[in-house]
Amino acid sequence: MSTDGRADRRARLGAAIARRGLDALVVSHLPNVQYLTGFTGTAATVALLRSGDLLFLTDFRYATQVRDEVGDAARIEIVAADPVGRLLERLAEYPGVAGVGFDGAALSWKAGERLRADARWRFEPAEGLVEALRARKDAGEVAAIREAGRVALEALEAVLGAVRPGLTETEVAARLELELRRRGSEWHPFPTIVASGPRSALPHAATSDREIRSGDFLLLDFGARIGGYCADVTRTVVVGARADGRQRTIYDLVREAQQRAVRGIAAGMTGRDADALARSVIEARGFGEQFGHSLGHGVGLEVHEEPRLSRTNDEPLPEGAVVTVEPGIYVPGWGGVRLEDDVLLAAEGPELLTDGDTELRELV
Ligand code: ZN
Ligand code: ZN
Repeated sequence: MSTDGRADRRARLGAAIARRGLDALVVSHLPNVQYLTGFTGTAATVALLRSGDLLFLTDFRYATQVRDEVGDAARIEIVAADPVGRLLERLAEYPGVAGVGFDGAALSWKAGERLRADARWRFEPAEGLVEALRARKDAGEVAAIREAGRVALEALEAVLGAVRPGLTETEVAARLELELRRRGSEWHPFPTIVASGPRSALPHAATSDREIRSGDFLLLDFGARIGGYCADVTRTVVVGARADGRQRTIYDLVREAQQRAVRGIAAGMTGRDADALARSVIEARGFGEQFGHSLGHGVGLEVHEEPRLSRTNDEPLPEGAVVTVEPGIYVPGWGGVRLEDDVLLAAEGPELLTDGDTELRELV
C-alpha cells in the first residue's frame, strides 16, 4: 500500500483523539491498523497515544513482516499470548494517560469488558475516528483505486468475447477471476457475482452452476485489489441474442439513472440527496419498488466503507471520498440490471475512476 502518508495520518488521528477528550485510542479493526501503520497481517493489537506514540503488539507469525511493514513507526512487541493484557501493561508506562477510547464495533465483547473493568483508566467507546480519516482519500489511494478499476474492466473485456449460451455462471466467474489475478489483482475483494437470466433479479446473488441461455441478462459484479485498495464494478450484458423490448427499456432506465448520479454527485451533498439523483429517475418511471437497495458506498481498503449513499444518511459527503454509484432494477422471476462505477468526489466535481462504459453489450 501507499505508506507515505502514515505519519500524517497518525498525527491527524492524535488530534482527533485529543478533540474527543481522550489520551489514547485502542485500534483493533485490521483495515484501520493497515491505514495507520501499513501492516497487512491478520493479528494486531494497537494503541495510538495522542502524542503520536504507537504501541503495536502481534504474534510470532508476523515477527518479520511487522518489522518490514511497520518498521520504527511503532513500538513493536511480539507476544505469545494475551496481547490485551500486555497492552495494558505498556499503557501504564505512559504518565498522564487517563481516558482511553476503543472501537466497540471491532473489539470483542470479552476484550471490551476487560478494558472497562480496569480501574486505572477511563475506557469509553470511540467509534469512527479512523473511518472518518479513511473516507478522504489522498492521491496515492486514488491512484491505487483507479488502477484496480482498470485491472477489473480489462479482465472483464478479456472474458466477455468468449461468453456464450451453455457456459455456467461458475465457469464465467472462474475465467474472470483468472484474468483478474493475471493482471495483478492481489485478491478478490468479495466473492464474484455472476448471475444469469432470472437469477440476475437477486441483488446479491451467489454464483451458481446454472447454464446461461440465449437471451439471458448476465450480471457481473466483481472487483480487483491493488496496493490493498479495492475497485468494485458491475456490468450487465445480454448473451446470445439482441435485447428484447423490455430488456432494452429497463436497461436504458438504469443507465440513465446511473449517468445522472455519476455526473451530479458532489462532495457536500448528503448521502440521501446523492441517492435521490438516481432514485428519482427510477421512481418517476414506476420502478421505485424494484430498486430496493441504496445507491452506493465508499470504497477503499474495504469494499464497503464510509460514506454511504443512502436514504438514511443525512451527513454531507466528504471531499476526497471515493464512492460506488450502482442503481439497479430487479424484477423477480424475470431478471435484473445493475450498473456500478467508482467515482472520486473531487473539489472540482465528480471524477470517474472506472471507465463508465455502460453502453448495452449484446454478445451475439
Ligand atoms: Zn459491486
Ligand atoms: Zn458495490
